[in-house]
Amino acid sequence: MTTQRQEQDKRYDPADSTLKFVTRQDDITLDDDPDTLRAEMSCGHAVTPQSLTAWCRSLLDQGQYVFRCPALKDGTVQKCEAQWSYQEVRKLAVLTAAEQQHFEETMAALAAAEYCEFKSCPGCHTCVEREDISNLNVHCTVCSAVTAQAFEFCWQCLRVWKGPGPRSDRCGNNGCTNKDLELLKGCPTTSLPQVQNLDPCPSIRACPTCGLLLEHDRTGCKNILCSRCQVEFCFVCLKLTPACLQTSSYFLPCSDGVAPRQEAIPSWKRS
Ligand SMILES: [Zn+2]
Ligand SMILES: [Zn+2]
Ligand SMILES: [Zn+2]
Ligand SMILES: [Zn+2]
Ligand SMILES: [Zn+2]
Ligand SMILES: [Zn+2]
Repeated sequence: MTTQRQEQDKRYDPADSTLKFVTRQDDITLDDDPDTLRAEMSCGHAVTPQSLTAWCRSLLDQGQYVFRCPALKDGTVQKCEAQWSYQEVRKLAVLTAAEQQHFEETMAALAAAEYCEFKSCPGCHTCVEREDISNLNVHCTVCSAVTAQAFEFCWQCLRVWKGPGPRSDRCGNNGCTNKDLELLKGCPTTSLPQVQNLDPCPSIRACPTCGLLLEHDRTGCKNILCSRCQVEFCFVCLKLTPACLQTSSYFLPCSDGVAPRQEAIPSWKRS
């Protein structure tokens, strides 16, 4: 079966009691074929796996990674605009593995492109954007112009840069440490009650895609969805969920065991 075929054949499982099924028309396409099983989104509008997939895919194609309902509010010309979470879209669009991969990669790339960091330069207090997010050594063009010599400060301790650069861990100033790394190193271990025979696992992990620190709420499976980049990964082995699932399953230990405490914060690769 080709991927395209799988996408056209996507259907709801009529026995799925977590979905609310309706027989009225599709609120996205207005299709009213009485033999099609449709389900209600959290906002109350009816969709099929195909109409929801097509709509959300078109949003991604336009560079939008926040999914909003395009249906018209009852009897008005006003759009619903309710925001749907990716988890909700993934479930009600019955996204295939290939679609999930496309959605997650596109969402992560769009979020990363929008994301930028500013800090205030200790010399002139103007906002400086960091160009290389893996380098703490940041050059201030304003100070450099004013003093007619290169002015560099540390993105982490916000003092004048000391020692050789570039560096991603710290500068040469006393007490320049990465608080996120300290947390990763010093956090207690945790257990995931629903995962069988799991060895103790650090309670804080850095998202392998964007580096945001995350805690598992200890419910459900091993995987966790990053709130910043929207990419799902395995909290135990730190592989992305599809990679972990190739050799393990949701509630079993990972084939490579518990990944050791992270010693570096992954940095987001902006495309
Ligand atoms: Zn709606
Ligand atoms: Zn400056
Ligand atoms: Zn520093
Ligand atoms: Zn899960
Ligand atoms: Zn992330
Ligand atoms: Zn895993």
